[in-house]
Amino acid sequence: MDPAKLLALDARHVWHPYAPMPGRVEPLLVTDASGVRLRLADGRELVDGMSSWWAAIHGYRHPVLDAALAEQAGRMSHVMFGGLTHEPAIRLATKLVELTPPGLEHVFLCDSGSVSVEVAVKMCLQYWQSLGRKGKRRLLTWRGGYHGDTFHPMSVCDPDDGMHSLWRGVLPEQVFVPEPPGGFGAPVDGSYVDMLAREIEEHADELAAVIVEPVVQGAGGMRFHNPGYLRALRELTRAHDVLLIFDEIATGFGRTGALFAAGHAGVTPDVLCLGKALTGGYLTMAAALCTPEVAGGISRGELPVLAHGPTFMGNPLASAVANASIDLLLDHDWQGAVRRIETGLREGLSGAVDLPGVADVRVLGAIGVVQLDHDVDMAAATKVATERGVWLRPFRDLIYAMPPYVCTDAEVRTIAAAMTAAAAGA
Ligand SMILES: *Cc1c(COP(=O)(O)O)cnc(C)c1O
Repeated sequence: MDPAKLLALDARHVWHPYAPMPGRVEPLLVTDASGVRLRLADGRELVDGMSSWWAAIHGYRHPVLDAALAEQAGRMSHVMFGGLTHEPAIRLATKLVELTPPGLEHVFLCDSGSVSVEVAVKMCLQYWQSLGRKGKRRLLTWRGGYHGDTFHPMSVCDPDDGMHSLWRGVLPEQVFVPEPPGGFGAPVDGSYVDMLAREIEEHADELAAVIVEPVVQGAGGMRFHNPGYLRALRELTRAHDVLLIFDEIATGFGRTGALFAAGHAGVTPDVLCLGKALTGGYLTMAAALCTPEVAGGISRGELPVLAHGPTFMGNPLASAVANASIDLLLDHDWQGAVRRIETGLREGLSGAVDLPGVADVRVLGAIGVVQLDHDVDMAAATKVATERGVWLRPFRDLIYAMPPYVCTDAEVRTIAAAMTAAAAGA
């Protein structure tokens, strides 16, 4: 179909993320993608600085992932998971148990990150319900977080960013503490830890769990914190009979320089959420992992099952491509690749620090962030970046990138240059 016609139909009928209807900004029409490049209908090619929102860590049309998908499609694309099981899902669950922090042994495969957070919350609430401690049904989190867009995850997103005022009376009201002090390498602030201790102790009787994104708060503001706060949370939650959920949907699979961000802290949460890069960006799939303590608690309850079962649970295609993506990651020097991107982003963004309107520049693993002292003019920033051959998707006051791990040094330089130019022009 003619590109102009497609875009007209898009504007008329198709919702886009966080967009009004009809759409106000024209999205770019992508015809295909390979390696780290998106090809547009007008013939332009853009280096993808976003990995399709943290997911496409190996780039697009990777021959190994394509082959895994085709092979699985030749056997079965899907089969219900109630009463049936299959090798792709069994292998995936086993692999996730082996790779994630020790102690997480049970895996619930589901459709998307938000749903895995729903499942994680359900596990925690039901755990306390089963133990007869029915008052423990609230969650505690720090501000500046993002956990997805369905209702329970929304209730633990940053209350201002998540527009909680719009949802008063609809969203469960959770306990919020201030956001963790910024900086991966900044020393642990003892007064912040004392505050965490006070809040967790005060609310212990009503708290089912503490939920946080470890080390990197993503869509809530792209902030980094010292892993020491995670150790503090682990000790405090254990001391006060509260479960701990780590949402590693964005940070999982190497992005921060550790395979899982929990590894920076050497901490095992009671429940862990994974998504995004799980399938290398090929298909939607997520997972909630838990300890035998959590699973056992639920199974001893009045309702001895976890009442959750998405239609596409354990989807064989997604499982097969996830297995291939994880093997591909582990068969390569992913740590070297992430370190190389980290160095490239640090060097490439060094010039942005002194630009007028730039408040902060920070890099951790394969994540680069330029924070402005004002909201980004999205249309202007996108135009500047695309003119430099790069796809970026800034939000709020943030111009950021998390490139596919297969980016060459030159491509990382191109991405950093586009971010700097966008910061100068937006
Ligand atoms: C993206 C994200 C989610 C939501 O995942 P979806 O697949 O978009 O539902 C939840 N938590 C974090 C930390 C995320 O980055």
